[in-house]
Amino acid sequence: MAAYVKLSTQARMPIFGLGTWQAARGKVEEAVKCAIDLGYRHFDCARFYGNETEIGNAIQEKIKAGIVKREDLFIVSKLWCTFHEKSLVKKSCQESLDDLKLDHLDLYLMHFPMGYKAGGDLRPVDEKGMIIPSNTDFLETWEAMEELVDCGMVKAIGISNFNHDQIERLLRKPGLKHKPVNHQIECHPYLTQEKLIHDCQSKGISVTAYRPFGAHTVKPGDPILLEDPTIKEIAARHNKSIAQVLIRFHIQRNVAVIPKSEKKHRLEENFKVFDFELTKEEMATLLGLNRNWRDCNMIHCVNHKDYPFKADY
Ligand code: NAP
Repeated sequence: MAAYVKLSTQARMPIFGLGTWQAARGKVEEAVKCAIDLGYRHFDCARFYGNETEIGNAIQEKIKAGIVKREDLFIVSKLWCTFHEKSLVKKSCQESLDDLKLDHLDLYLMHFPMGYKAGGDLRPVDEKGMIIPSNTDFLETWEAMEELVDCGMVKAIGISNFNHDQIERLLRKPGLKHKPVNHQIECHPYLTQEKLIHDCQSKGISVTAYRPFGAHTVKPGDPILLEDPTIKEIAARHNKSIAQVLIRFHIQRNVAVIPKSEKKHRLEENFKVFDFELTKEEMATLLGLNRNWRDCNMIHCVNHKDYPFKADY
């Protein structure tokens, strides 16, 4: 099984990476250093996560120490929703580059198709707690992202949390200069995304799965993937943990996966997924657990014109 996903630019994206959302500022630097020592080469970052400075410190230290070369790393960041106006895109990307202490990103994603009101607040909401949109159109935001490729700030651009119709609209954009090379979406056995993944991969758009362990903050009634008895049985058969099966599930679909952890023993555990293979039947069983259950449903954005999650896929 390839340890890389090939992008339409011919670049190779490591199929396994480290997620960094809610990686606490005081801990993420150590976690990234530890991950690099363990062999992690793909890091999923975002302006919204507020920790790119610490991640940049860790990367810089490991490069200076000769542990890793920049060209062996694959660094992803994302354009946040309050920076969708064309005039804000380049500055926001430059701020991510400055914080990460890099001169280019390997991949820059539009975090959501939805633009929010620009300004200091990254999550501008009204008195009812609903998001305040901007009047931007993601096609125009995309044009500004294309310029980042042209001026060398990023090697490639992609999308995140788009639905099928929104992808079609982007691909049909008159004068499209750079196609999205990657789509980052929530995916796990309770949200298997079969149609969306097939659609993307058939169009040359690679897929990355986020939130591979399902519910982040478990609310009453949420299904808990890490305790699923069917997955537990599969894991026991391979002498692996449920987490390892949940990661392996994506690798065998040629989907990149970016679990987050701040703990050394889990960073180690999560990386040990290249020494076993799920059978065809086990993959079918995992796909059969689908219940179209989405954790990251952005319910406070449901009235936004570009809210992506009402569509079938
Ligand atoms: P996740 O990776 O599915 O789960 C992270 C949680 O699982 C953390 O609480 C972590 O705790 C715990 N964990 C890690 N390894 C474990 C193991 N082996 N056994 C049990 N628990 C384990 O969720 P996520 O962080 O939301 O998603 C992964 C990454 O995807 C994010 O960090 C972010 O980079 C990206 N993401 C992108 C979007 C988007 O809109 N594009 C949305 C969400 C996430 P410890 O840290 O304490 O180990």
